[in-house]
Amino acid sequence: MNMALLLARTATWLGDRPAVSVGQEIRLDYRMLARRSAALAGALSGRFGLRPGDRVGILMGNRAEYTEVLFAIWHAGLVAVPINAKLHAREVAWILEDAQARICIISPDHAEEIVPLADELDALEQVIIGAGAAYERLLAGDPVALNDHVGPDDLAWLFYTSGTTGRPKGAMLSHRNLMLATMNYFADVDPVAPTDTIIHAAPLSHGSGFCGLSHLAKGANQVVPESGGFDAAETLALIGRWPGSSLFFAPTMVHRLINSPAIGDSDLRNLKTIVYGGGPMYVEDILAAIAVLGPRFAQIYGQGEAPMTITGLPKWLHADVAHPRYRERLASVGIARTDVEVRVCDEEDRTLPAGETGEVMVRGSVVMQGYWRNEAASAAALRGGWLHTGDVGCFDAEGFLTLKDRAKDLIISGGSNIYPREIEEVLLRHPAVSEASVVGRPHPDWGEEVVAFVVAAPGRTVGPAELDALCLDHIARFKRPKAYRLVEKLPKNNYGKVLKTDLRRMLAEDGGTG
Ligand code: AMP
Repeated sequence: MNMALLLARTATWLGDRPAVSVGQEIRLDYRMLARRSAALAGALSGRFGLRPGDRVGILMGNRAEYTEVLFAIWHAGLVAVPINAKLHAREVAWILEDAQARICIISPDHAEEIVPLADELDALEQVIIGAGAAYERLLAGDPVALNDHVGPDDLAWLFYTSGTTGRPKGAMLSHRNLMLATMNYFADVDPVAPTDTIIHAAPLSHGSGFCGLSHLAKGANQVVPESGGFDAAETLALIGRWPGSSLFFAPTMVHRLINSPAIGDSDLRNLKTIVYGGGPMYVEDILAAIAVLGPRFAQIYGQGEAPMTITGLPKWLHADVAHPRYRERLASVGIARTDVEVRVCDEEDRTLPAGETGEVMVRGSVVMQGYWRNEAASAAALRGGWLHTGDVGCFDAEGFLTLKDRAKDLIISGGSNIYPREIEEVLLRHPAVSEASVVGRPHPDWGEEVVAFVVAAPGRTVGPAELDALCLDHIARFKRPKAYRLVEKLPKNNYGKVLKTDLRRMLAEDGGTG
């Protein structure tokens, strides 16, 4: 089934419901959204001559036009290549070239840098600015019929990985993969009703976009903040405005929301669920968030390669405070999602029993088909029919998976494995610590030594001695950081993930002292 049918169907029976809103205002109902999308599909296949299977880049921050563009691409049987809007123009060019995109649809703010790429890149024929009079003229054309030749295994979305360890790779997601991701939200996170809302404060090219599919399927309102991104006060005002509000947040956004001065005056009755994931959520942070907002949280653990769907910690478990292992459960990424098999394996891909740590692997219909034009990487990642996530974790006897760290973030000091997450969890117990990130630094005798970057809570200071004492109280001596760096903020990417590579680079540039 073509994913675009979701929009066509919602428009037939919920045509009058709000579909797209910007800030406090409704912009489009479902009938209008579907019409615009089908007209743009007509322009893509008619005027621009794209053929089913051709790739179309989308480079837009969160804007009203995003959804109609995405669905127009599918409507015409094309493949969407959503690109993180914060990437450098050179990185965008690399992705467009790798995907052999024939067209890229951008927001006006990218025009200066991206329009010239049409002359530079072999495959790229046209850059369309997805706003303004010329764009509206494209949408004034006749809607075309949905391409219903699209089968479940046809490509729908090339999801480019963030590529922190090399060139980004395009995870090939089929219509079946996206349908599974859509359905799994209903199975494991929440049911959705037409009276609900999803507020897209996180990038639509990533988790928020996937959650958006489930909301569109059920006729809920998709709200894009006027700022196009995450601003705590603005997000709180939007929750006050829109009923049944759900949001997808990176863990760092949860932290910023609950620490916002605006939270005290906010009306949070509309808040249905904050779905968080994409990076580690620390126990102290989720406990603080539950104390402020109540147990309106669901965690998901996934990857672009298995969109949003490996394990999850449902809402009710966030409320299960009486459970003797409540803290451990909150520190975990939850249990396997309904439709996937998850296991933890050793280096020879042998399944390990509960309690042992190894690489997390997943198998199921939501898992990507492979990496675009990269057979070697596909064969390695999908060895033996299982997706090798590159994440290191451990199941407990009840099936809760706890992630340690990505293999590349593991610190090996004096031959012992040290998982930064464990030390970060301890540092965050200190009331004057707002954020912490731990990395390894080369050491002539030990191989690596532990260095902690710490952000103090507003108006507080914190010194190495007290942090050291805290670590000594909770973890083995050899895991203690050998140096503490007090910083104003941690480097993060557009999806809110801490860039440990940048922290390691900072240490290298400092000549390793401090
Ligand atoms: P991406 O493909 O950009 O979504 O990144 C996926 C990676 O983010 C995973 O392989 C994990 O390393 C990390 N990740 C995703 N969800 C979680 C989570 N709930 N807790 C900890 N790490 C996560």
